[in-house]
Amino acid sequence: MLEARIPSGPIEQKWDKCRYEMKLVNPANRRKHSIIVVGAGLAGAAAAATLGQQGYHVHCFSYHDTPRRAHSIAAQGGMNAAKNYRNDGDSVSRLFKDTVKGGDFRARESNVHRLAEVSVNIIDQCVAQGVPFAREYGGILDNRSFGGVQVERTFYARGQTGQQLLLGAYQALEEQIAAGRVTMHIRSELLDVVIVDGRARGIVTRNLVTGEISSHAADVVVLATGGYSNVFYLSTNAKASNSTAIWRAHRRGALFGNPCFTQIHPTCIPLSSEHQSKLTLMSESLRNDGRVWVPKKQSDKRAPKDIPESERDYYLENRYPSFGNLVPRDVASRNAKEVCDEGRGVGPHGQGVYLDFADAIHRLGLETVREKYGNLFDIYQRITGEDAYTVPMRIYPAPHYTMGGLWVDYHLMTTIPGLFAAGEANFSDHGANRLGASALMQGLADGYFVVPATVPDYIASTKLDPVDASHTAFRLGEAEVKDRINKLLASNGKRSPDSFHKELGKIVWDECGMARSDAGLRKALARIPELREEFWQNLRIVGNGEELNQTLDKANRVSDFMEIAELMCLDALHRNESCGGHFRVESQTADGEAKRDDANFSYTAAWEWKGTGQAPALHKEALTFEYVPLSQRSYK
Ligand SMILES: Cc1cc2nc3c(=O)[nH]c(=O)nc-3n(C[C@H](O)[C@H](O)[C@H](O)COP(=O)(O)OP(=O)(O)OC[C@H]3O[C@@H](n4cnc5c(N)ncnc54)[C@H](O)[C@@H]3O)c2cc1C
Repeated sequence: MLEARIPSGPIEQKWDKCRYEMKLVNPANRRKHSIIVVGAGLAGAAAAATLGQQGYHVHCFSYHDTPRRAHSIAAQGGMNAAKNYRNDGDSVSRLFKDTVKGGDFRARESNVHRLAEVSVNIIDQCVAQGVPFAREYGGILDNRSFGGVQVERTFYARGQTGQQLLLGAYQALEEQIAAGRVTMHIRSELLDVVIVDGRARGIVTRNLVTGEISSHAADVVVLATGGYSNVFYLSTNAKASNSTAIWRAHRRGALFGNPCFTQIHPTCIPLSSEHQSKLTLMSESLRNDGRVWVPKKQSDKRAPKDIPESERDYYLENRYPSFGNLVPRDVASRNAKEVCDEGRGVGPHGQGVYLDFADAIHRLGLETVREKYGNLFDIYQRITGEDAYTVPMRIYPAPHYTMGGLWVDYHLMTTIPGLFAAGEANFSDHGANRLGASALMQGLADGYFVVPATVPDYIASTKLDPVDASHTAFRLGEAEVKDRINKLLASNGKRSPDSFHKELGKIVWDECGMARSDAGLRKALARIPELREEFWQNLRIVGNGEELNQTLDKANRVSDFMEIAELMCLDALHRNESCGGHFRVESQTADGEAKRDDANFSYTAAWEWKGTGQAPALHKEALTFEYVPLSQRSYK
């Protein structure tokens, strides 16, 4: 069932070989084919624009009112590329190695190598589009460092890298919309994927303003619908980000890869109230210059300025002298949790550590620090009321990114022929832990370079009979979508979708968050189905389905979170090893680091849906490491 279609030959030649062997579609024939791209974030906008430019009829869908609202706009810190502009020892091979190691040897080597190769083209593409990357005084593109690496390869646009990259992709998309090759469907939410004769041939959507359910047929469907961190309720993701598209595709037969691999980002603004509905990221780039510390004494309530140097514990610098504050995210998050669990956390709830810029300001001057991170300091000030130029920031880990997603082969095709997944929606490339500044790189690699090569190959190699939206499969899909919505509306209960989501999020955070145990995961697996049952019985939605109804939209999304949460816990329970962001308390080294079990778990877990309340089937894609030898990660 799992045929990864990895090209043969040396790793540095695989992508070239694959591109050479793939079939092409004659330019005159391209307009005869239609492609649906769901998502207009970095991955989706890049794919839709590029396929449009090639001459295909593209229909791009987004539940937002404009592509510019996609969650990608929030990305702050930067994007990696192996350009070696710093001449500090970087190369495609080093980016490849860092990413495989950073992912704790749970990613496919061939995909990661392609990502590293393509990274250099992405920068050229974006510069050509006019993306205003930060430059040095002499005009050369500037770089900084992110966690888990010892070179400076991160390209950035102040603290607004995602915004600038998305504007680049958006203008490329708009050009194709104006040319008539891309039709944009806004405020349209995918609620089902339609399969005809075993192939993805379209989608069913709901118009979020009118409630209209409609069908759309095509030759190929690409999902670029982002990640599922909002299963935790509190996360750094945009409030609207959800798992519905990938989950509904999963229910139609697309296997789900490594659902328990989620990333808890170490530098977020700590929670300040029980009623909070959102967490805010402070970019990892801040760890280039900020120093992380906590008091050496427990329950030390003194103001930071009153705690002398000798009574501070710069725990990352002390424990990991080679990488210091720039250890990878999983390591930084776990260490923050550990010092807080010891009673040394700071802030009102003791759930925080300091990120201190005093040394950087002393060394570089206030203006330089402001120039590099000014907007992040402003965000922090607006949310906490504190001035981080004079008082250390307080940070704490929060759900941020999902490495898991739809299982895809080397061509980024899911186990449903004709259904592709790009960007955060797929599971590929980051293994058990994503290195900072690598998500933008992957989204754009998939969107600008991989999908535009592999989708045409699929079209050219497949006999695609004409199918339109009057086909019975679409009628059946629409009927199922309507049934589900009616069922949600019919439950005349007492609780809001948000209250269920909040309770679910707490279960997943407590038992499948930064640390996971056999007992905790079993507890969650007992509780989630009960909560799901109550959700369907005791839900209250005001209004109806034929108008703008955000409570209904939310309920629909929460119904999918209820199912994905269970799969995450099941995956975490079966993976009785620690790796990257998946920390099983039963599997740690003597000094508390994640301990992998390569003999038993060196594989991607790909789960097959068997029905609500039924045990899913586990399929395994064995992982082999020919180029980066398996080793215990060490950042000491
Ligand atoms: C605060 C923050 C900061 C970050 N900073 C960085 C950084 O500095 N560097 C880095 O590399 N990464 C960063 N990341 C991660 C990175 O931003 C994301 O992984 C990446 O932008 C995801 O892009 P995407 O195109 O896959 O999905 P998204 O940008 O999430 O886009 C999803 C698209 O799909 C659409 N969609 C979803 N579901 C449906 C549906 N059912 N029907 C119709 N449309 C749908 C949405 O409308 C949207 O257009 C950050 C993440 C966060 C949360």
